[in-house]
Amino acid sequence: MLEISNLTHTYGSGPAAHHALGGVDLSVAKGELVCIVGPSGCGKSTLLRSVAGLLRPGGGEVLLNGTPVDQAPDNLAVVFQDYSRSLFPWMSVADNVSLPLRRRKLDRRRRREAAMEALAQVGLGGAEGKYPWQLSGGMQQRVSIARALAYRPALLLMDEPFGSVDAQTREDLEDLTLRVRGHHNMTILLITHDIDESVYVGDRVVVLSKAPAKVVGDLRVDLPCPRDQITTREHPGFVHLRAEVGRLVRGLRNPSAATP
Ligand code: ADP
Repeated sequence: MLEISNLTHTYGSGPAAHHALGGVDLSVAKGELVCIVGPSGCGKSTLLRSVAGLLRPGGGEVLLNGTPVDQAPDNLAVVFQDYSRSLFPWMSVADNVSLPLRRRKLDRRRRREAAMEALAQVGLGGAEGKYPWQLSGGMQQRVSIARALAYRPALLLMDEPFGSVDAQTREDLEDLTLRVRGHHNMTILLITHDIDESVYVGDRVVVLSKAPAKVVGDLRVDLPCPRDQITTREHPGFVHLRAEVGRLVRGLRNPSAATP
């Protein structure tokens, strides 16, 4: 579904130039949940913005279902870390969720139904008439996830989606993502700096090197499903993978040895 080939990007020019992406290659199949990890500032968001069509990369190609991405594609949704800036404070929760559905050319009643269904799926049935500022941070991020779900994107991009909530809420949102992903058989690319999270939610963990970013590891997460916050995290396979990803992120591992 998603083919990224030799993607490069440089911010600025001359002595101030910063080479963010140094030739990233990555394929994601339909229905996969792929986590991208890497050292802070290595270029993870730059990669995601290129896939979302929000940034024109310096070189290389992004193909979504065979079509080059050169502007924000119609069949894609993004959940950002900063929920407080991605929801409109003057719109009700239901209106925030149904807004993008106008692009789907659904009538008002169908938009409302889709919004209510998505809100129920994220455990926010009954909150449709509230405003984002009346909700906790975790609930606001659930609204962002509901908005993405209602849109039924072919590909869901998540950029540090749980980075601004407390640890307990983070675990709840990880499990929510796994549940709704199961319902919709969605394809998800999730960026995180949290190695444990990447192994817990991912079908695959792709590790980027420090800038200029390249793929230095691509590990399949072969852990039992459904995942569970206690038993999955104490599974020997989880502990092994977490250590392996940690070594790759820190540059302590020969990359080729970890790539299947
Ligand atoms: P990550 O998501 O891995 O933390 P980013 O993709 O946000 O990394 O950024 C990669 C590098 O590019 C960082 O050093 C960052 O400072 C730089 N960078 C990001 N956006 C811009 C920009 N618009 N202009 C200049 N430099 C940028």
